[in-house]
Amino acid sequence: MRIAVIGAGAVGALIARELTRYEADVLLFEREADVGWGVTKANSAIVHGGFHEAPDTVRARFCAPGNAMYEGLCRELDVPFRRVGAYVLAFGEEELAVLRELQAQGEENGVPGLEIHSREEVLAREPHVNPEVRAGLWSPTVGITEPWTVAIAAVENAVANGLKLHLAEEVTGIEVRAGRVQAVVTGKGRYPVDAVVNAAGLFADRIAEMAGLKEPVLFPRRGEYILLDKAASGLVRSVLFPAPTEKSKGILVLPTVDGGVLLGPTAEDLPRGAREAVETTPEGLRRVVEGARRLVPGVDLSQAIKTFAGLRPESPQEDFVVGPTVVKGFYQAAAMRSPGLTAAPAIAKWLACEVMASELSLSRRGSFNPIRKGIPRVAELSEAEWEELIRKDPRYGRIVCFCNRVTEGEIVEAIRRGARSLDGVKFRTRAGFGRCQGGFCTDRILQILARELGVEPEEVPLRDPSSPLVMGKVRP
Ligand SMILES: Cc1cc2nc3c(=O)[nH]c(=O)nc-3n(C[C@H](O)[C@H](O)[C@H](O)COP(=O)(O)OP(=O)(O)OC[C@H]3O[C@@H](n4cnc5c(N)ncnc54)[C@H](O)[C@@H]3O)c2cc1C
Repeated sequence: MRIAVIGAGAVGALIARELTRYEADVLLFEREADVGWGVTKANSAIVHGGFHEAPDTVRARFCAPGNAMYEGLCRELDVPFRRVGAYVLAFGEEELAVLRELQAQGEENGVPGLEIHSREEVLAREPHVNPEVRAGLWSPTVGITEPWTVAIAAVENAVANGLKLHLAEEVTGIEVRAGRVQAVVTGKGRYPVDAVVNAAGLFADRIAEMAGLKEPVLFPRRGEYILLDKAASGLVRSVLFPAPTEKSKGILVLPTVDGGVLLGPTAEDLPRGAREAVETTPEGLRRVVEGARRLVPGVDLSQAIKTFAGLRPESPQEDFVVGPTVVKGFYQAAAMRSPGLTAAPAIAKWLACEVMASELSLSRRGSFNPIRKGIPRVAELSEAEWEELIRKDPRYGRIVCFCNRVTEGEIVEAIRRGARSLDGVKFRTRAGFGRCQGGFCTDRILQILARELGVEPEEVPLRDPSSPLVMGKVRP
């Protein structure tokens, strides 16, 4: 039995990991040079409660169960996760009515612990919230995580359990004969397979078309963000939502797992072809500031260290397309707009362990090990733990990224685990993610990458060979 998963974002990574529990040859194809560089890289990183989703949707079916799985999943995979809770804030009578509707909807979806808190209760917990707030819907199960680490950790664990990872290998065709999947074709070869999972994010419609299917139809919906430095960390403890709009959950203010504060996202529909349009715009960022200050007037833009944008894979139905299809052996985990990150573990479990295991008669392997250890994070260790680590490997005593206190030892370990570029190191260690955004550590990381990989610095890219960082020596 051979199964191909297309797309190494959070969704494909978790599905591939579940499939390695079975006696099957599992292949994961990713067109990018690394894991988690699609939609999974740029989003709000919230593990949603599930009260935003209309009860008759696939989103609602998988959101609260996915949320409930996050604690265990992140413990197994050593991924940061904090259940910080969330408020939806109401600023008038009409919005208060919306909170009551969201509470009822959440309860119907099985979201635990929803309560409406008074203005005083909200301000006691979140003193920087706009004092004009009328009330807040409190959702204690909402959490925050590091989305790309979910994907990286799931793939590392799956590889340890036998997954074959094919990076920088774009799927260009799917062979279907007599209504059944036969093979996956990539730029590098043809792979006969018994089943395919389409988890290709923004490009899942193209993969579906290759199999002769018309669903899903996708278009990008851009969300722009502003990231504030750790100096802003006292601003909010929980995720703050406004009352939602038709199109999105609105512009939020929330803590990040590494101590920063995130503002955004906007929600702007783009033409179907604009799938690389991750630039920010003056108008979008203006809206982010306006929306964030409505919730927290004291947002200080002098603490902004980065702006970025992500693209949601939206479909006209605004819902996930998951499960088997009319093409035998072709499964979808597509149109994964928000809350796709939250729903991903529940979808992975359902699709792999219920649907595919039964349809493909998969039998369990005895040897599956669910545990993956992350790279030690010196910034999070006690002095005694750090000293212990340095005793074992002195490279953990040499700080390279001073903003986030990342050491040479962590960078070398990231390279050992597969980082081949500056971004590969950044997303595995947070080096270059801090206040200076790599201004002071890029050259040092570049040299470590070159040394460890045995290449010239000119051969070390930002992302992949199409994005070189240095052109050559100024002096021979
Ligand atoms: C602005 C924004 C905010 C969001 N906020 C949240 C949130 O707070 N909480 C939440 O739960 N969800 C949120 N989401 C949704 C969440 O980010 C997505 O549902 C999730 O990341 C989707 O993961 P994925 O694996 O399906 O897609 P991706 O991460 O895009 O993975 C798909 C992969 O497939 C690869 N691929 C594509 N075509 C091919 C091909 N032909 N061959 C090989 N590989 C291919 C891509 O390179 C990509 O890496 C948000 C999304 C956005 C954009």
